[in-house]
Amino acid sequence: MDYALVIRHGTVVTASDTFQADLGIRDGRIAAIAAGLPRGQQEIDASGLQVLPGGVDVHTHLDAPVGDVVTVDDFESGTAAAACGGITTICDYAWQQPGQTIAQAIDTWQAKARSRAHIDYGFHVILSDAGPERLAELPAMVAAGYPSYKVFLISEFGIGDPAILRLLAAARACGAIVNVHCENGAMLDFVAQRLLAQGKRDPRYYAESRPALAETEATERIIRYAELLDAEIYIVHLSCQGALEAVRAARRRGLRVWAETRPIYLALTEERYQVGGVEAAKLVGAPPLRSPADQAALWEGLRSGDIVAIGSDNTSWTPEQKAAGRDDFTRVPYGVPGLETELRVIYSEGVSKGRISANTFVAVFATNPARIFGLYPRKGTIAVGSDADLVLFDPRRTERLDERRLHSRAGYDPFHGFEVAGWPVLTLSRGEVIAREGELLSRPGRGQLLLRHRKS
Ligand SMILES: [Zn+2]
Repeated sequence: MDYALVIRHGTVVTASDTFQADLGIRDGRIAAIAAGLPRGQQEIDASGLQVLPGGVDVHTHLDAPVGDVVTVDDFESGTAAAACGGITTICDYAWQQPGQTIAQAIDTWQAKARSRAHIDYGFHVILSDAGPERLAELPAMVAAGYPSYKVFLISEFGIGDPAILRLLAAARACGAIVNVHCENGAMLDFVAQRLLAQGKRDPRYYAESRPALAETEATERIIRYAELLDAEIYIVHLSCQGALEAVRAARRRGLRVWAETRPIYLALTEERYQVGGVEAAKLVGAPPLRSPADQAALWEGLRSGDIVAIGSDNTSWTPEQKAAGRDDFTRVPYGVPGLETELRVIYSEGVSKGRISANTFVAVFATNPARIFGLYPRKGTIAVGSDADLVLFDPRRTERLDERRLHSRAGYDPFHGFEVAGWPVLTLSRGEVIAREGELLSRPGRGQLLLRHRKS
């Protein structure tokens, strides 16, 4: 009954409870949760610290080719940043290239991750082809541990509504979930072209170019498609009040609709684009930053449970790459980094500022995404038998975030300069300390592929 490690005197926080206990860890798993455990081979004193489940970020794009450029964070730098920021599990989007089978898309991504990842990882698959042969692959791929597929409603990367309907029907039949980027492509394209024609080309017009109404319309539409086919959907990076209202109404009708939001929408607003140029381009993601009223609605959505998860959508570009759209906002590559800072920024803005409880924070950053995507209870909670993926977190420590101290190759961070209350001191993955005080103590390749099986 020897423990390899005992974490003593911490305050354990789960999605439902907060209590004092020691954690006994053996074989990488939590073996006991109790007061006064016997001495372990190693001991960590967590007095004054919270013990949280490691973050589960189910929305990342590492080593992802977009057009003729590739995101600068690969599985090594991206998961190093994650580990130092208290994230212990990611689900990255394997992007099916034209002509590839779904299995080939996963193999391509596994080759990127295998020798590089510091933390455990699973894959969703972005479908760029949902023809009959690809959909015929779904049941076997779901059974093999890949139960989630993503589509876009925007024009870029889109496969069209008829294909999306076929996918929803196929997913329904084999227990898969469909993740959806909701913005109306025709509306976006029209508004962007009109702005460009008016000479409004600078990234300062980015938010104006992607109205919240386009997101609301697409969210309402995909919900109706899911309703038609009794399919389960997960709305990625929901950013505005109108889309949230559509989700809330759908959930009241009993539909299986889940919504994720993103740290930048909870902590930044569209005024940040006013600066223009590359500084604005650095904060260009899709959807764009929204209004303070939208932001307030998102926090309310977290409190009410209508938004169940937070995912970074970490997509890292350097300022030089972002500068491609300096004179034409449609040419700015989409995406921002943030894997290393998201957990503490949302803890600070959410828990420390009294907007959400620590338990809700754990629910949306770990437990709920783990449940939805078939990782629970191995990941996403603190329970006997779960992997010992833990963050020792000091809720009282205040620091200013400095992008020069981070691991992302983007070289910048959207939350640079934020004064945060709450700090990850130690990150453990399967009982192993992989980061301490922002210093990486892991080795590339120790992360394991997670095959996921959903209960539907
Ligand atoms: Zn994404």
